[in-house]
Amino acid sequence: MTDTPPRPQTSPDVGVPADSPPTPRLVIGVLNESAEGEHRVALVPGSVPAILKTGLEVLVESGAGADSWFSDHDYADAGAETTGAPDVIERADVLLMVGKPPSESVVNFHSGQVVIGMLQPLVDPELAQALATQGVTGVSLDGLPRTLSRAQSMDALSSQANIAGYKAALLAADSYGRYFPMMITAAGTARPADVLVLGAGVAGLQAMGTARRLGAVVTGYDIRPETKGEIESVGARFLVLTSVASGSGAGGYARALSAEEQLAQQHELNEHISRRDVVITTAQVPGRKPPVLVTAEALKQMRAGAVVVDMGASDLGGNVEGSVPGQTTVTDNKVTVIGASNLAARVPSAASVAYSHNISALLLSLVSNGALAIDLEDEIQAGVVITFDGKVVHPPTATPLAEPSATTTVPVALGAIP
Ligand code: NAD
Repeated sequence: MTDTPPRPQTSPDVGVPADSPPTPRLVIGVLNESAEGEHRVALVPGSVPAILKTGLEVLVESGAGADSWFSDHDYADAGAETTGAPDVIERADVLLMVGKPPSESVVNFHSGQVVIGMLQPLVDPELAQALATQGVTGVSLDGLPRTLSRAQSMDALSSQANIAGYKAALLAADSYGRYFPMMITAAGTARPADVLVLGAGVAGLQAMGTARRLGAVVTGYDIRPETKGEIESVGARFLVLTSVASGSGAGGYARALSAEEQLAQQHELNEHISRRDVVITTAQVPGRKPPVLVTAEALKQMRAGAVVVDMGASDLGGNVEGSVPGQTTVTDNKVTVIGASNLAARVPSAASVAYSHNISALLLSLVSNGALAIDLEDEIQAGVVITFDGKVVHPPTATPLAEPSATTTVPVALGAIP
């Protein structure tokens, strides 16, 4: 625990008599993340001064930053108070998180409290319902309208995907039993690794750029032909498939392919995949399960020692048939398949710094004159505010709750909904 910073000398409430009791300051709480493998923290010490400067208080659960190498001492130095989780939940007006709060915590949240995190309401609409029932305002960073210029600083999907793409390339290089770059030594010459990256969104482009900087020969593919320029700009070759029409959908995202198109794509990709040393998959389609791009048949055709990193791996299925999230498996023909879910959490310090920047920007945009100003007419808030005033107010989340049969397609990424 440390001294809280001095209260502002002047009241922001113009016209309030000088002897009135001071308005309680908004308390921002930071909780330790409880999900398995989650090492990030929602707010880093470096973001605390900007929040204090606006007249808010910051309360951090003791040890919340430990996995990303930020100590309680660092938070105290920055002007935050550290305390136990029950105290944070009791006293905070706004709780900042990276992921979702565990359902057993939600019952302890109090009416009027706000929770900001990557709440994934389309994957877990029941959490949204539980927050609404509890009277808690749920704000989900994954619902941000990413193309708005004033939302750029809040775009946690991009900041985390960028880090995940970088880590995917490092993971592939580490698991591959040969060099990524060409090596000419007295002991012989090694050819560079041949890397194929499927999907050229934020994560895919970073994976291509990183593999390229490590010296590999890199090819990139995306169902959206307009990615050609971006793929080439990071030093990769653009792979053209002749059997599939453009998969560009609304808002710069991919559309879902028909079953026939998917089969044709898989069939043509098989031949390209089989020749590669390393394949990294990053493909996502808004509101759907990730498409299968590397089939079991393609894995069978790959050489012993090849490595496949599936960034789409999740309990909903991934881009690689049979990949298991969080696990590395080796096929009978000795291909290493890495089910690489939540890779940003494996670069916890950098990912926390970037996330903290994003969540602070969103938080401060929700505060006006020291108080929360929820305005569902605002374009950003309409995307991120999921529950308010005891109701699920976000239509894409409310619809499956009202009609459970409408959840036959498995939603994956709220922010990707155009
Ligand atoms: P994403 O995570 O939704 O998907 C990753 C990639 O997978 C996409 O490029 C998609 O086209 C591709 N894909 C989907 N199905 C595929 C298939 N069957 N075969 C091959 N590839 C397939 O992507 P993202 O990183 O969220 O980016 C999506 C779009 O949003 C891009 O156009 C990106 O430039 C844009 N974006 C814009 C901003 C901004 O305007 N500030 C910020 C972030 C992203």
